[in-house]
Amino acid sequence: MSTAPWVSVPADSGFGLGHLPYGAAVLGDDAQHLLVRIGDDALDLNEAGAAGLLDELAAGIDAGAVTPETLRAVVDAPVLNPLLAAGPAVWAALRGRVTELLTDPAYRDRVVLRPLDALTPVLPWSVGDYVDFYSSEHHAANVGRMFRPTAPPLYPNWRHQPIGYHGRAGTVVVSGTDIVRPRGQYPVDGTPTFGATRRLDIEAEVGFVVGTSNDLGTPISTVDYRGHVFGVVLLNDWSARDLQAWETVPLGPFLGKSFATSVSAWVTPLAALAAAGVAGPDQDPPVLDYLREETPSGLDLELLVRWNGEVVSRPPFATMYWSPAQQLAHLTVNGARVRPGDLYASGTVSGPEAGQRGSFLELTWNGAEPVTLADGSTREFLLDGDEVVISATATGVDGRPITLGAVTGRIRPARD
Ligand code: CA
Repeated sequence: MSTAPWVSVPADSGFGLGHLPYGAAVLGDDAQHLLVRIGDDALDLNEAGAAGLLDELAAGIDAGAVTPETLRAVVDAPVLNPLLAAGPAVWAALRGRVTELLTDPAYRDRVVLRPLDALTPVLPWSVGDYVDFYSSEHHAANVGRMFRPTAPPLYPNWRHQPIGYHGRAGTVVVSGTDIVRPRGQYPVDGTPTFGATRRLDIEAEVGFVVGTSNDLGTPISTVDYRGHVFGVVLLNDWSARDLQAWETVPLGPFLGKSFATSVSAWVTPLAALAAAGVAGPDQDPPVLDYLREETPSGLDLELLVRWNGEVVSRPPFATMYWSPAQQLAHLTVNGARVRPGDLYASGTVSGPEAGQRGSFLELTWNGAEPVTLADGSTREFLLDGDEVVISATATGVDGRPITLGAVTGRIRPARD
């Protein structure tokens, strides 16, 4: 089998054979099709299954109990959830077979490739429960310094467990969806007032898409992380800081977060990030046993935040204090169940440097240090019409860079 695709892939593409992320789009027949991205095209998985191209398993794949019928069944769906539920052996078998279809010229005339510029990607899976963590020490400490200047920057629990909250899955939207400025309640000169948020912000994060379930009552250990998590998306946790500040005590984030959470249209399988693994910072004090990791699950992703085209931040995901395996272990340690399609996010990714902060709250130090954009204008928080793009790169398994699917959103005015 050749190791080069027969499909034309631009030399600088972050979507080569080593990547192969999954997505979906609604096509001319009004049906939603599952796709695998290669370069500037996408292989149509539903068509591949229907044409019998998944009836043979790839050479060299240890299929275990995986059968062609299983592969056909998981792509005979408009969403990725059946694939997510099928588990690591099926994930590996499908990835192997798709690689074979894209490298063996015998399939050139049988594979349906769809040019991306003719597609509008949609959310490729049905999101179950959604959890957002708070796992960057630099982010948590920056917020602490801004809002509790006389207290220690971190709360006493922070280094002992990954802090998080349960969010709103129903308002997770695909990249490119416009974001309507939310309205809500916040104090003006001490008087509670209702209106459009004046402090609309982003949080640049990495999201983890859950594959297989656990049984209710059975925690997922850090060792079993790779058996339960399918892949990675970039995520923007849009935040209305004035609503958030007024409502968040004592129970945590609510309406200041739940109006929209954007995710990238392409889900990068963990298998594509096997060469991007990295150990996070030393954890001191030592963590409790259930949070210990034998193999670090951190990822060396370089995020990039563009505000109206200007690069304003480069948050390094490798600096996250709590890893995705620790987050999943903590999320389930009380016996809580995860299901295929659940989503959990890292929390704002902020590095130690000023140019590595993943929110405008931190970048502008709560509005005190405005950011200058490419057109010379300045910003404290988002204005109507502003666009934010979060992208990321990593080293792929073949040594070539991988570009994660970007997550973009433009702010529309509040409704009357
Ligand atoms: Ca967040």
